[in-house]
Amino acid sequence: MKVVDMHCDTISELLEHKKIGWTLADNDMHLRLDKMEAGDYLLQNFALFVNLGRPTDPYEQAMILADCFDEQMKQFGDRISQVRSFADIEKNRAEGKISAMLTIEEGGVCKGSLEKLRKFYDRGVRMMTLTWNYPNEIGHPNAPMSDNIEADPDYSTPEVKKGLTELGIDFVEEMQKMGMIVDVSHLSDAGFWDVVKYTKKPFVASHSNARAVCKNVRNLTDEMIRALAEKGGVTGLNFCSEFLEDFQNGIRPAGTISSVVDHAKHIVNVGGIECLGLGSDFDGITTHAELTGGDKLPLLDDALAKGGFSAAQREKIFSGNVLRLYKEVL
Ligand SMILES: [Zn+2]
Repeated sequence: MKVVDMHCDTISELLEHKKIGWTLADNDMHLRLDKMEAGDYLLQNFALFVNLGRPTDPYEQAMILADCFDEQMKQFGDRISQVRSFADIEKNRAEGKISAMLTIEEGGVCKGSLEKLRKFYDRGVRMMTLTWNYPNEIGHPNAPMSDNIEADPDYSTPEVKKGLTELGIDFVEEMQKMGMIVDVSHLSDAGFWDVVKYTKKPFVASHSNARAVCKNVRNLTDEMIRALAEKGGVTGLNFCSEFLEDFQNGIRPAGTISSVVDHAKHIVNVGGIECLGLGSDFDGITTHAELTGGDKLPLLDDALAKGGFSAAQREKIFSGNVLRLYKEVL
């Protein structure tokens, strides 16, 4: 089953381990070229992730990450190649190469400048998560950040008042004009509803699950899933245990394939089969107990089949829905 995955943090990890020689072909991460080939990957989104809590210039840092991505594409161009349009994806598919799409996770890298947004588009960025866990010029995140930047935010109470800023509305409009996909993962509930209001084209939650199954505010409520689906959008199943299962007796479960299937069933029941895709969050999360890397994706396909999803439905979840959206928006 061909795989299209809307989110990973592999480029940040690669940059961090550059000194010890890690590349896309040689590393200890979830995603490595041989694992992706074993998992039958058609397309992987690679995020330029910047933590605004760190003392670096976010724009410069994102450009350094983009350079790291470019180097990998150059080095392994016979196996993986960057895509900027839907036609590029089809070309790579015909040539038996994996497609790589550049995305941004943290709209703050634009520092409030539409000109910088355009620069990222010119470098090939085709999707942007408007916020990560900090407020930025565009809008507000799911939950207030804790004072300790290494700690997770308080994911139990959603931010329902603060959404997009005035400038954030301009960003969303400009992104749609350019053909850059709006991503609402990490964005506050209020921001989500602003995006629904100000978008004409389908948008995504690149790596978010169902809040009715796991209470974490990083996940979408049923109302949000319905609104996303009505817009023709897609949400990507996230393999992070924190967003899969609630604490049980104070202990966090390690994440199982069956919990991913539970989220898939719920999201499809609420929003229909057209609104679900994959957003593993590989290399940005602690290793899932069973989905330990790109090579394990066939196990998820088997589990979904046992869970009652037909081959045609699984094909939509694994690649078809996201490709439909890319064709329409890019
Ligand atoms: Zn994330």
